[in-house]
Amino acid sequence: DLQAGWTAVDAYLTDQLAPGDETLDAALAASDEAGLPKIAVAPNQGKLLHLLARVQGARTILEIGTLGGYSTIWLARALPPDGRLISLEYDPAHAELARLNLDRAGLNEVAAVRTGAALDTLPKLEAEGAGPFDLVFIDADKKNNPRYVEWALRLTRPGSVIVVDNVVRGGRVVDAESSDEAILGTREMFDLVARDPRLDATAIQTVGSKGYDGLLIARVVS
Ligand code: SAM
Repeated sequence: DLQAGWTAVDAYLTDQLAPGDETLDAALAASDEAGLPKIAVAPNQGKLLHLLARVQGARTILEIGTLGGYSTIWLARALPPDGRLISLEYDPAHAELARLNLDRAGLNEVAAVRTGAALDTLPKLEAEGAGPFDLVFIDADKKNNPRYVEWALRLTRPGSVIVVDNVVRGGRVVDAESSDEAILGTREMFDLVARDPRLDATAIQTVGSKGYDGLLIARVVS
């Protein structure tokens, strides 16, 4: 079937271009053992985030939605030694495991996980004078995506990049009648990005080991 084909091709692409190493594999294994949901980005998507951060020359990264820190490791590895990543996670158990995984990856100097609902933590970050972030990766509760994009705009600068994951949702994003709050949040996010003159964006559909979905990439222009 289609999914089997996508998974096989993802395995091939990952094997060729984004092979796991012990650290990344250990982070996933620890997440599985702890019973975390298997909703981390795929390895080749993690590599895409890593490359985007490199191409962007990012020195500061904000991630919303840490889980076990898998995407966090990909992103943090793109930073220079004096770079900084802050990742926001609601679930204390997820945050704790992510810290352990980052520690094992030797990234605890570069990457910090802040526990709490992101909409509570983001104003604190702003009050602390955090940012501007060169890259923001949004991958938490989808219903709040419009709010996260608004916060990303407050905490970035012209030239920053904002990436939003899971914006196609098996094609359901086009269902204007949907009452699913993830779809509603995603559609409101698209409306917001489309009409905000400070953002220039595109979105692409993706298929792979994680099914049929997509991501949005925006550049802060002013
Ligand atoms: N970025 C991770 C990766 O690819 O490895 C996956 C993140 S997972 C899709 C979403 C995470 O967002 C979960 O760990 C969940 O607990 C967290 N989350 C849900 N609601 C949140 C909120 N309001 N604030 C912060 N994190 C939240």
